[in-house]
Amino acid sequence: MTDVAANLSRVAATIPAGVTLVAVSKFHPVEALRCAYDAGQRVFAESRAQELAVKAPALPPDIEWHFIGHLQTNKVRAVLPHVSLIQSIDSRRLLRAVSDEAVRQGRVVDVLLEVNVSADGSKTGMAPDEFDGLAAGFSAAEFPGVRVRGLMGMATFTDDTAVVRRDFEALRGLFDSLRSGVFSTSPEFDILSMGMSDDRDIAIACGSTMVRVGTDIFGYREY
Ligand SMILES: *Cc1c(COP(=O)(O)O)cnc(C)c1O
Repeated sequence: MTDVAANLSRVAATIPAGVTLVAVSKFHPVEALRCAYDAGQRVFAESRAQELAVKAPALPPDIEWHFIGHLQTNKVRAVLPHVSLIQSIDSRRLLRAVSDEAVRQGRVVDVLLEVNVSADGSKTGMAPDEFDGLAAGFSAAEFPGVRVRGLMGMATFTDDTAVVRRDFEALRGLFDSLRSGVFSTSPEFDILSMGMSDDRDIAIACGSTMVRVGTDIFGYREY
């Protein structure tokens, strides 16, 4: 059996102060999450609405749940009551749906814009031109149900660390230019979520403030 508590403390020891460790618990059973919780972990991320809806009520209420998977607009209503941060806003349409539903539920939800900088043809996140179109003229007043806290992204899936570093530097550059540009009057725009089990050291060196670690804590997932 995977020793989740030992894994967690090993991972946590490599995360500098100021970087948030998000435990990516998708596909793992509630008991594994409970081990991480008992070892002190409080921030968890799931990627499927259905799974989140089952796990969240089964675990203590002081857990901060993040959503990191592709979110269909028809699942927004079910996901919102559980989450404190949606990291995977991958279209203007989804941002619209999340904001509208949050207003309906009487809250404001923190979100990250997911941008695709990778060169491997992966489909996750907004393509650069859609992202630019949304970010360039971004008006917070248009989306009163959300607070845009920053960006999330993934590097190209490759062993070539130069490519990985280039992707993370691109994300960092985008983050910095938004922070000093269209979000310069929004001090809450302060999260750059990048880095996973295999590439988090590079991400941290490139300025990540939040890493999302699954495999190194919980072991391999069974799909
Ligand atoms: C699954 C997932 C992770 C965690 O990946 P590991 O390699 O298991 O650490 C991080 N971010 C996103 C968006 C994911 O879907």
